[in-house]
Amino acid sequence: MAYSSTFEDALLRVQSFAKRADINAEITEALCHPKEMMSVSLPIRMDDGTKQYFSAYRCRYNNILGPTKGGIRFHPNVNSDEVQALALWMTIKCAVLDIPFGGAKGGITVNPKDLSPMELERLSRAYMRAMVNFISPHRDIPAPDVNTNALIMAWMLDEYESIKREHSPDVITGKPVELGGSLGRDDATGRGAYLCTLELIKVMGWSPNNLTVAIQGFGNGGYHIAQLLEKVGCKIVAVSDSQGGIYAEEGFHIDSLWQEKQRSRQVRAVYCDGSVCELINHHPITNAELLELDVDILIPAALEGVITKDNAHQIKAKAIVEIANGPILFEADDILASKGIKVIPDVLANAGGVTVSYFEWVQNRSGQHWSLDDVHQKLKDKMIDAFSQVWTLAEQKNYSLREAAYINALNRISTATSKLGTHHYFKQT
Ligand code: GLU
Repeated sequence: MAYSSTFEDALLRVQSFAKRADINAEITEALCHPKEMMSVSLPIRMDDGTKQYFSAYRCRYNNILGPTKGGIRFHPNVNSDEVQALALWMTIKCAVLDIPFGGAKGGITVNPKDLSPMELERLSRAYMRAMVNFISPHRDIPAPDVNTNALIMAWMLDEYESIKREHSPDVITGKPVELGGSLGRDDATGRGAYLCTLELIKVMGWSPNNLTVAIQGFGNGGYHIAQLLEKVGCKIVAVSDSQGGIYAEEGFHIDSLWQEKQRSRQVRAVYCDGSVCELINHHPITNAELLELDVDILIPAALEGVITKDNAHQIKAKAIVEIANGPILFEADDILASKGIKVIPDVLANAGGVTVSYFEWVQNRSGQHWSLDDVHQKLKDKMIDAFSQVWTLAEQKNYSLREAAYINALNRISTATSKLGTHHYFKQT
C-alpha cells in the first residue's frame, strides 16, 4: 500500500494482527472507530499585539479498559489523522502493559520554538480551556509528548483547577514533582526502553559490553536511554536531531553531548570536562544515513514513518528499539523480519512513560508519594513482565514481537469488550 495516512497505516496493522489472532470481527471493527474527537481553533494574542489561530485536537480513542490516557504534542505536523493514530497506539500500549487505561492523544499544530515563553503559556492554557469538558481525572488524563514538558503540564493543571475551583492533580501527569508529579517520570520513557533492551540482550545471549548503538532523535527519551546504555558498557556511536547527526566509531560521552545540546540547542560532537567542551573526532551524517549504519542496536527516537519499504532493505542493525511512536511503517515490518532484525515495538518499548504516569495518577488519587527506588522497582517489574509475556508468545507462535504485543493487547481489549455482549450472544436470544 502507498503510505497515505498514519491512521490508515495504524489500522492496517490492527486488522492484520486481529485476523491472525482470530479476534472477534465485531471487536476489531470497534477498534477501527475512534470514540471521540475534539477539534478546535485556539485564538492567541501574540506579544506583538496580533492574533493568531492554532489548530488543536484531542482524540479519546477507546475507553473499555479505563479512562483514556495520552500525551499532548506541540509540533508543526500535528493534524487530526496523526492524533487519531497516536491515540490508537496509546490504546494498544496501555493494554500491552496491562494498565487500567484506555488510549487518547492530543496536539497543537505549532512550532513551539517560534513562540515566546508567554505566548507558549497562553497557548497551553487556551488548550486546556478549550478541552476542559473533554478532560477529567475519570475520563481523560493528558501528559507530555513531543515538545511538551512538566512546565506546560503545570500551566494546564493550573488552568483546569482555576476553572473547576478544586484541587485536581490527578487530571494530568508528567507535572512537576512539587505540584504532585511522580519521582522518576522525567526519565521513565528512556528507562522503560532501556529495561526492554536489556531483556532483549539477555534473551538473545548477547553482552551489553561494546554493543554499538545509533540513536535518531536526542530528546528526552533518546538522551535517557543513551545514558543508561552507556553505563552498562554500550558504545553510542551515532546521535542526531532534526538538523542532522554525528558519528564517532569510538563512541560518544553522552552527558557531554547533552550538556552541549542544552547550551547550543544542537547535537555537537564534544567531550566536556566540567564546563569546558572540546570537539572530538567525528563524521557528520544525515538522519537517513544514521538509520542505515552497521550497528548492533538502532533506536529511532524522533517521529513516525522514518523506516519504510524504501529504506528497510538497507537497515543493518541487529535490533531496533522504537522509542518514537510509529517510526516503522506497516509496509516495512515484513522486510525487517525477513532480515532477522528483532524489533521491540513502540507499544512496548516506549511504554515506560505512560506506566509511570499511571503510578503518578495512583499516587495523586491515594494521597501518596512514592520514593524514587519504589518507582524504579515498580517500573522494572511492569516492563519485564510485559516484555516476557510478549517474548514468550512470539516464541511460541513464531510471531514478531510487534505481532505478539498487539495480540496480547487485542486479547485484553477483546475480552473486556465481549463482557458487554457480542453478536454471537444477541443472535442466540
Ligand atoms: N506521550 C507519552 C506516550 O506516547 C506518555 C503518555 C502518558 O504518559 O500518558 O506514551
